[in-house]
Amino acid sequence: MREINMEKTDIKSLPLAQLEQWILEQGEKKFRAAQIYQWMHQKLADSPDAMTNISAVLRSKLAAECRYTVLRQVACQVSEKDGTRKYLFALSDGNMVESVLMRYKHGNSVCISSQAGCRMGCRFCASTLDGLVRNLTPAEMLDQIYRIQADTGERVSNVVVMGTGEPLDNYENLLIFLRMLTDENGLHISQRNVTVSTCGLVPKMRQLAEENLQITLALSLHAATQRKREQLMPVAKRYEIHELIDACAYYFKKTGRRITIEYSLVSGVNDTGQDAEELAGLIGGLHCHVNLIPVNPIKERDYRRPDRKGVMAFQSCLERHGIVSTVRREMGQDIDGACGQLRKRYAENNFT
Ligand code: SAH
Repeated sequence: MREINMEKTDIKSLPLAQLEQWILEQGEKKFRAAQIYQWMHQKLADSPDAMTNISAVLRSKLAAECRYTVLRQVACQVSEKDGTRKYLFALSDGNMVESVLMRYKHGNSVCISSQAGCRMGCRFCASTLDGLVRNLTPAEMLDQIYRIQADTGERVSNVVVMGTGEPLDNYENLLIFLRMLTDENGLHISQRNVTVSTCGLVPKMRQLAEENLQITLALSLHAATQRKREQLMPVAKRYEIHELIDACAYYFKKTGRRITIEYSLVSGVNDTGQDAEELAGLIGGLHCHVNLIPVNPIKERDYRRPDRKGVMAFQSCLERHGIVSTVRREMGQDIDGACGQLRKRYAENNFT
């Protein structure tokens, strides 16, 4: 895995207290840090040049000696059906990441990527086909949201870390990102409106439970038995399915936040009545809500989604057991809907 050049100070990845320390080390007054922080994280300045209440000398110092992360918009596909906007952004080293803006009645939600590529290997997922390239920095995660808010002029109220990458595989940067995103000196998004989705890295889930955050944890379960889960998700071989459910129960115990269980329905693989019964048995005791996602077919695999009737039958079975579930609304189906498809298509030069 390559790490990006960290020689220059990555100022947009520094929490305010650290930026203050850096500013003092430069021989500047401490309050300058708050001003610069506000330009970066509230006014969403796309360069130090925009910071008009900062002296020209300090501005050019920032430009010369610091890394100022701004993602470059390479493409934006807009769904004609529901207004969903799917962005492709270039990072400073040429890597590409995808982010999605979904407009709901309750507000705008942005789905961000946490890594360039992914090494988890889930069978149905396009993001992992070419492996992991590198972790994203806190600033690269934040700026996906900043560029989208600046592009649309509309406030983002919800953030889901469900794009390319396994967020808990980039734990330290993720935590800095989460704290800066929800900080009152930044966009100040409510922690309750932030969801982190994981394929199930048990030790990190337990660590996250201790962080004193009010974010929602979503677990990509996708199968109710150890054997079936291993077939769909190689990561399942590392953690036994009951350990995973225990980690979810622990997260609820520590945070009081109900878990979201994600379950992608794949026809003939995990969508039968028996699968639903087994799922109900597995998670019956957990404070959770199930999100059923009819699988988005990718061309590299032969996975198909069940028909509407099949999805409803699965949902009714859960309901009979008192388990609340929703079927994910299919946003942006007409614009490379599945995770990682746009990035991958770009990399393969099939871009129009
Ligand atoms: N690595 C994290 C977050 C990224 S994936 C995780 O595994 O949760 C976000 C969600 O989309 C996960 O639930 C993932 O399993 C699911 N997903 C990925 N590709 C999909 C596809 N082709 N169809 C349906 N769901 C998919």
